[in-house]
Amino acid sequence: MGSMEIPFDISETVWWTGYGYREEWIVCPECNGQKALTLIQGNGDTVSIACANCSQGCEPPLGRIKRAFYHFEPQRFICEKVEMHGYEFWYHDGERNVSSENLFKTREECEKRCIELNVKKEKEEESKILTNITRNRAKIAWSVHYWGRTVSKLTKELDFAKKRLSECKERKGRKT
Ligand SMILES: [Zn+2]
Repeated sequence: MGSMEIPFDISETVWWTGYGYREEWIVCPECNGQKALTLIQGNGDTVSIACANCSQGCEPPLGRIKRAFYHFEPQRFICEKVEMHGYEFWYHDGERNVSSENLFKTREECEKRCIELNVKKEKEEESKILTNITRNRAKIAWSVHYWGRTVSKLTKELDFAKKRLSECKERKGRKT
């Protein structure tokens, strides 16, 4: 295989895109912080249901969700040590381990990559939020439909049982 050249020299100062990641609570975009949604069924009935987008598992809804924000920005990075993982070079600056993919010789190159990353990650996060909303809506719609049908089925059974009961009572009354 021969020898491979390392992309940056030891003790060279380069530019790093940074971690660029932070998590924050935001108002739930589905219920707007109200924790509940109003659903209009096909027959015109309205049902208020707990927002599934801002509740986890069986927990009650919070009205807010955690969202990732990305802000990559060029930072100075001093290459102190280098390691190879597979075909990737990882540099250590005494504190952090960074792939050479995120390191650049010039601030301009790094800046360009940061902008790319900010756009890409932001889009990914937005589509993740949208996917969650869609999935939770399907879940809610399904459960409203299901429980609605269960209620009408049980109501019919209850009506039937009441009718039978009153018939039994009538018969019993006639006998005595
Ligand atoms: Zn919500």
